[in-house]
Amino acid sequence: MNSNKSTYESMTQGSHLNLLSCPKCQMVCSNELEKCPRCENELAVRDKSSLQKAWALLITAAILLIPANIYPISIITKQGKETHDTIFSGILHTIHLGMIPIAIILFIASILVPWLKIIGLATYLSAISFNLPLSKRFLMKGFHIIEWIGRWSMLDLCVISLTVALVNMGQLLDAKPGIAATPFALVILFTQLAAKVLDTRLLWDRLESNHDSD
Ligand SMILES: [Zn+2]
Repeated sequence: MNSNKSTYESMTQGSHLNLLSCPKCQMVCSNELEKCPRCENELAVRDKSSLQKAWALLITAAILLIPANIYPISIITKQGKETHDTIFSGILHTIHLGMIPIAIILFIASILVPWLKIIGLATYLSAISFNLPLSKRFLMKGFHIIEWIGRWSMLDLCVISLTVALVNMGQLLDAKPGIAATPFALVILFTQLAAKVLDTRLLWDRLESNHDSD
């Protein structure tokens, strides 16, 4: 713990050396320059508006999670009979059919991953916005988890398309995406964008200014 603490404190940031990196092409420039010499992008020490953009995208994603969960995500026609399934009832259906591994993948991809991403990002953004008394170690770990989950975000969409493809292969069944498919895809897109627009250096500044909070 103590060794971590001293590592944070002794960390040198670009701003200490009057340097900053171009947000567009990552070129390291002097902070006296107004425009990047390589790509002519405007330079700023920190993109403060990024926090606001990330919040807007995250809140949109959280709102879209409601229609994504209450409306049917799949419409399956079997021998002329239509079954409308929400994310949750679809998982229950798969369990009833005895396809436990598929049910687990569906649960991870369509419930666990989107919720973890939203809760994780909300905690992370709140920590920066409201200066929450959360430990540095907790925030650093959270950040790595969000990054790690981000790599799996396409899994959700992949699972849906795979399920539809698999079901369509059985000639007796016909599967179509339901109304909830669009908000669900948007939830994934907006959480990805929220993580992408956020200037993570804002958290490093906070870590620097709160030496006392562990
Ligand atoms: Zn540049």
